[in-house]
Amino acid sequence: MNLHDGLKDPKLCRNVLRQIEAEVDEQFRFMEVCGTHTVAIFQSGLRSILPDKIIHLSGPGCPVCVTHEREVAAYLELAEKEDAIIATFGDLMRVPGPDKKNLKDAQAEGARIKVVYSAFDALKVAMENPQDKVVFLGIGFETTAPTIAATLKVAKEQGINNFYVLSFHKLVPPALKALVQDKEIKVEGFLLPGHVSTIIGLEPYKFLAQEYNIPAVISGFEPLDILQAILMMLRQKNNHEAKVTNNYKRAVADIGNPKARQVMDEVFEVVDTFWRGIGVIPQSGLGLNRDYERFDALKAFNLTLPDVAPIAGCRCGDVLKGKVRPDECPLFKKACSPASPVGPCMVSTEGSCAAYFKYMVE
Ligand code: SF4
Repeated sequence: MNLHDGLKDPKLCRNVLRQIEAEVDEQFRFMEVCGTHTVAIFQSGLRSILPDKIIHLSGPGCPVCVTHEREVAAYLELAEKEDAIIATFGDLMRVPGPDKKNLKDAQAEGARIKVVYSAFDALKVAMENPQDKVVFLGIGFETTAPTIAATLKVAKEQGINNFYVLSFHKLVPPALKALVQDKEIKVEGFLLPGHVSTIIGLEPYKFLAQEYNIPAVISGFEPLDILQAILMMLRQKNNHEAKVTNNYKRAVADIGNPKARQVMDEVFEVVDTFWRGIGVIPQSGLGLNRDYERFDALKAFNLTLPDVAPIAGCRCGDVLKGKVRPDECPLFKKACSPASPVGPCMVSTEGSCAAYFKYMVE
């Protein structure tokens, strides 16, 4: 039996679940802020076995889902440029933009778009097509940003002048701050993202406990990890304490990964950015800094971020803030399904609506 088998062991999980049941008194609302946690919680069936008093909210942890309508419009604007080849992660292809158009539609109309698995793949496309301008659509959180920064460093060192990044990267801690300041959400504990935390460590989350008195636990993705983290938050609440703790030490160092942060700092600067459903959050995004501005697709293609109306009827914005469950959206399982998604939360494999659709048996 390896370590991961142990973390799935039903006996151990039942044991922690019994402790949660014994210690939950009043209602406890916790939010997970990572798409991988969203899927893990549904896939393992944890959501259905937790006591009713434990209210689980999914937060803005799916990178495709939080990409704002304006940003999707910019992708589509870019797709119309004849001299551009777009390189993108596959999930972005079906995210609807203005007039329900997506990148797949743009591709059918002739736009040159390649699905890649990494920024380095996109750089390879640029090297193989020196006569074209290749733009990588940069989305994601602190987890993906270091790889993209490293790719840009290689492009700069090798003097590759036909490679660009459209950087809409987002930072998790400022989004958490925006959520806790929203009085309607009332999160009492945060299950903190394991992958993002490998980069940023504990420190950037400490305001949750210090300023807002909210316990928060960095968690791994196995059922036992998640149950333990819930128990740790619950105990803090019952003891009227609030701490930020690391329950994923096998992968996350308390100080995170300083080398990865250094690469990010060399390439990016912190900027205000748009989040779907939330709007602009100050200092919550990463744009290219002056040393790398020649790789900035926003500037190279003079792209605008047009004001776009939210998709009619879609509640993704409220789902991402934990204000409604996916099945409270009137379009859920009716007009909206993974085969015919109306909003990004149903498009992405890490989206809450897709997880509800696939795993929830009510
Ligand atoms: S069910 Fe579909 S339309 Fe409703 S919030 Fe989710 S993605 Fe949007």
